[in-house]
Amino acid sequence: MRPLLHFVFTLRVNSTVAWTNRHRFAILILMKPSLIVHGGAWDIPDEAVDACKSGCHHALTAGWSILASGGSALDAVEAAITILEDEPVFDAGYGSHLNADGRVECDAIVMDGATLRAGSAAALQRVKNPIQLARKILEKCPHMMLVAEGAERFAKDHGVKLCAPEELVTEAEWEAYLRCSKDKHAAEHHRGHEQGTVGAVAIDQNGHLFAATSTGGTCCKLPGRVGDSPLIGCGCYADSEVGGVSCTGYGEAIMKIVMAKTTVDFLRRPAICVDRTAAQSCNDSAADLAARDAIHLLAKRTHATGGLILLDCHGNPALAFNTPRMAYGYVAPDGSFFTAV
Ligand code: ASP
Repeated sequence: MRPLLHFVFTLRVNSTVAWTNRHRFAILILMKPSLIVHGGAWDIPDEAVDACKSGCHHALTAGWSILASGGSALDAVEAAITILEDEPVFDAGYGSHLNADGRVECDAIVMDGATLRAGSAAALQRVKNPIQLARKILEKCPHMMLVAEGAERFAKDHGVKLCAPEELVTEAEWEAYLRCSKDKHAAEHHRGHEQGTVGAVAIDQNGHLFAATSTGGTCCKLPGRVGDSPLIGCGCYADSEVGGVSCTGYGEAIMKIVMAKTTVDFLRRPAICVDRTAAQSCNDSAADLAARDAIHLLAKRTHATGGLILLDCHGNPALAFNTPRMAYGYVAPDGSFFTAV
């Protein structure tokens, strides 16, 4: 008998992987991979713009080198977010905002669009790269979310790197914390370090979709506070049938409208529109409209600010924010990197 021949194409298709197996031929249609990242939506100060852009660029480089060589979307989002966590300009991992006790407390999540399963961890004080623990929980834990000491014990048992809590604290954040804790008008002292949460969404050539988010939360939060970021549907959501989303902004507001899942629902039913003007309805893609409608809903129902990134299931990127700035980057169809703040 003659061996099967495998013809491999790379193109963007509606159905992600298609096999045609007629006796002698098997045709595997591969998707063109896609990747988008963000580094928070806030009033990012001018001095931080270059560092935010280059952080996003490095994250794209790490994630894209995996996707472009046929690697998995899970590896790509983990690699991209690990870079962003290690970069002190962002509020995740090293350089996170400090809580009211002057300690870093991190949250992270990664979600698989095929199974709708997530791995999530919150209130971590000793995990160098929270996204790596979130992945271990996704892959090795019977539960979907672990917090605090139990999460750190799971990390240790599964070879995720722990560190001393002080190793996550940067001088800039310590100074901001001291200013905040000296004065009741704390909000004033938050000026100048409004960089944010990080996130990534990727689709690999096999059509697998993963979304992920990692954060140090809000500055001077109460110890034990958990925001939207590690909550499935709030700070992150992925459904291979429709798309994947990572959010940033005021966690307490984002939770109220379950923003990541709401955005995915808008993608599924693009006719649902909140507050759209006639001028906006013309040339925008369904992905653009879903992103924008979700941020409109955030503003309308909670009066808060935030942002989000998404990939629809065909790999089209979109983003929206109602803050002065958002740091983000994506890989354009020609393979070039676009970053902006
Ligand atoms: N959403 C995050 C939180 O509330 C903060 C952020 O996005 O910067 O924990």
